[in-house]
Amino acid sequence: MPLGERTIRVSLPDHTYDVVVRRGLLADVGGLLRQLNTSGKAIVITDNKIATHFLGQLRESLQGEGFSPHVTVLPSGEEQKAIESVVGLYDQILPLKVDRNTPIIAMGGGVIGDISGFVAATVLRGVPFVQIPTTLLSMVDASVGGKTGVNHRAGKNLIGAFHQPIAVLIDPDVLRTLPPREIRSGLAECIKHDVIRDADGFANLETNIARALALDLDYLSGLIAHNVEIKAKVVMADPFERGERAHLNFGHTFGHAIETTLNYEKSHGECVGLGMTAAAKLATDLKLIDDAARQRIVRVIDSAKLPTHGLSADPNVLLNAMSFDKKAKAGKLRFILPDRIGHVVIRDDVPTEMVRDALESLMD
Ligand code: NAD
Repeated sequence: MPLGERTIRVSLPDHTYDVVVRRGLLADVGGLLRQLNTSGKAIVITDNKIATHFLGQLRESLQGEGFSPHVTVLPSGEEQKAIESVVGLYDQILPLKVDRNTPIIAMGGGVIGDISGFVAATVLRGVPFVQIPTTLLSMVDASVGGKTGVNHRAGKNLIGAFHQPIAVLIDPDVLRTLPPREIRSGLAECIKHDVIRDADGFANLETNIARALALDLDYLSGLIAHNVEIKAKVVMADPFERGERAHLNFGHTFGHAIETTLNYEKSHGECVGLGMTAAAKLATDLKLIDDAARQRIVRVIDSAKLPTHGLSADPNVLLNAMSFDKKAKAGKLRFILPDRIGHVVIRDDVPTEMVRDALESLMD
């Protein structure tokens, strides 16, 4: 194993794959793919911003190993995550006479990963799928776990399929060109992972989060591997989201409601920052954690330069948006709440007034 490489194995009942994290890995993608026995054809899907920086390197690496890649570059942006993009991709890919062994390689953030994964799940009823995530969020979260799909006007991520990748190849060096706001978005998910699963990881974040914001790539490499390990464990325990995978929604019940109510004017990470702050307050009011633990959570969110207060929205509209969340079960709001840092419980018995108080506490 090359110096500094971390490999995390994701073992599922009918499929096992590796997530490899190493600085400089992009140059070796062709070789790694060769070892996976895929065909000489390969479909690369990326977006225009990422293509500017990294497509040349990926193409060179694939061609160097005898692959002849067909490349599709989509415009960047969440609006692309629509069935129309999927149909456009079918129109390009199917005439190339792909076979069940032709890999689809997604190089991009969660948007490109989700669209490409859905295409890979459905072309010929499933072709091999490789993820090369390029945002911190997609490295620590979206690329691992096999959830793929697109949005519909009725809501986000309502059309999709589970389709596990055959490999996730992470080169932290690509974060060099990622805008700071996107780094902060990824950090929101890192904080979430440690609150739900790892008190030591949380303590590490308390000391070192500034290194992530300063783009210390060695630190980020370790942080990414740590977070992939957490996400992988949760996914392995619950591949189809029937149970404990719900823990990954810590901060997201509030967060999604804030996101839609503000019409996506705040980033996902910013909404999750506010959402985790509200969830920590709820956990304190329910006496699951003490105020000292709540303050630690809020301080880490704040030190990631994510918002913890100053929200301007009508609590009634937010409450209404929460009850429409697709993760609300049988009309009941479900919250993932810490009962200590590193451990969470699921609660669906929280009085509405307490939820309203938690929302109002974000307005200060
Ligand atoms: P994104 O894919 O929109 O990327 C954010 C922006 O960064 C885009 O403009 C992109 O072009 C740009 N970019 C990406 N990598 C770059 C780089 N290295 N340098 C410069 N610019 C770069 O956003 P995201 O936050 O990665 O993903 C959000 C999406 O992920 C949402 O659609 C969400 O629903 C989905 N998601 C999916 C899962 C899952 O399990 N499948 C989990 C979480 C989120």
